[in-house]
Amino acid sequence: MDILNEIRFTMPSLSVNESTARAVVSSFLVQLNPTVEELSDIRTAVSEAVTNSVVHGYRGTKGDIELTVRLLPHREIYIRIKDKGCGIGDIKQAMEPLFTTAPEEERSGLGFSVMESFMDSLTVRSKVGKGTTITMRKRLSRHGD
Ligand code: ATP
Ligand code: MG
Repeated sequence: MDILNEIRFTMPSLSVNESTARAVVSSFLVQLNPTVEELSDIRTAVSEAVTNSVVHGYRGTKGDIELTVRLLPHREIYIRIKDKGCGIGDIKQAMEPLFTTAPEEERSGLGFSVMESFMDSLTVRSKVGKGTTITMRKRLSRHGD
């Protein structure tokens, strides 16, 4: 992977860090002058992934979430969100629209669908008891380039 620029940081699994993650990603992407829509899509996808780590991965516990953002050639953005939480037993099922293990909390089971539709690609790797790693990519338009 030819990495032109990169940031990586770790934050504790506090819900306030859902907005921290959005803000940090936005700041990093300023260098690409993304469209309002692109920025909004990426912020939302990052937020969904971090929220999942906080509410599902570390349910009832606390741990670290690592966020990596890379700028690749051709205005491609690579984002990785990693937790060491409970993991996902059935990834295929978890990614189905409307599937949720927390319906009583008014979760709608749409987080993965949002990530998938707002980004060009989404990869979920997970091991029960070890944690979950989400990788997303999106290529930005030539706007403002
Ligand atoms: P919504 O995102 O609409 O509030 P949701 O979080 O339940 O609801 P998704 O984000 O699509 O929906 O996630 C589907 C399911 O996958 C979750 O209910 C949870 O069981 C599991 N899951 C997702 N991310 C993680 C994670 N980081 N660690 C453990 N389980 C996860
Ligand atoms: Mg979710």
